[in-house]
Amino acid sequence: MTLDKKQINGLMQLIGLTRDSEINCDQCLNLIAEFAERELAGKSFPESLEKVEHHLSICRECCEEYRLLIQALKTMDEDEPDPSPPRL
Ligand SMILES: [Zn+2]
Repeated sequence: MTLDKKQINGLMQLIGLTRDSEINCDQCLNLIAEFAERELAGKSFPESLEKVEHHLSICRECCEEYRLLIQALKTMDEDEPDPSPPRL
């Protein structure tokens, strides 16, 4: 049997609905600073931030937002080297 366009659309919707772990742009932007800091620190991401990672892979706008944030954070690091030794 072959699927017609309507059936395919129905299936696509079904798949879309089951992906309830996806976040929207607002949620992504709320978490993006934490995500960027962890990325720069080389830390692993908790589950909540994995959603951010996924969103960045599919959303061009948030990806751009993230890129700028990373750049800003790196620039801050370079411009203001911390003279005191890191506190442990
Ligand atoms: Zn987005």
